[in-house]
Amino acid sequence: MEVEGMSGIEKKAAAMAAAEEEEVGRKAAAAGDVGLKELSRKLNDFAKERDWEQYHSPRNLLLAMIAEVGELSELFMWKGEVHKGLADWDDAEKEHLGEELADVLLYLVRLSDICGVDLGDAATRKIVKNAVKYPAPSKEDA
Ligand SMILES: [Mg+2]
Repeated sequence: MEVEGMSGIEKKAAAMAAAEEEEVGRKAAAAGDVGLKELSRKLNDFAKERDWEQYHSPRNLLLAMIAEVGELSELFMWKGEVHKGLADWDDAEKEHLGEELADVLLYLVRLSDICGVDLGDAATRKIVKNAVKYPAPSKEDA
């Protein structure tokens, strides 16, 4: 990230580092393997570069996420039952769905970061807790 007061060489190095990070992110995205911490870092940079950190209070981020959940819900509204794979949705609808899912995820990641919660760790712990609470039937029971 470029910072005021950097020399020309420092700016070039920062630009190269950013381009390299972007390439790593692109490859990870292509492999379907973008990490939550990477998303969190990108969101932090995005907010910093625009001086939007002042607006990113937990309450504001939560409300923004809920608004995005509303936008996501609109895509399913009045469609009746939607079947797995969305075979009857056109490409534009599927692209829009991806965008709204991303909006919800990004606000969730940002909210977690601002609240000091390690979302990946919390989610992993919750899966383990759920497995204890709802044990899978043993093969002998089946
Ligand atoms: Mg949206």
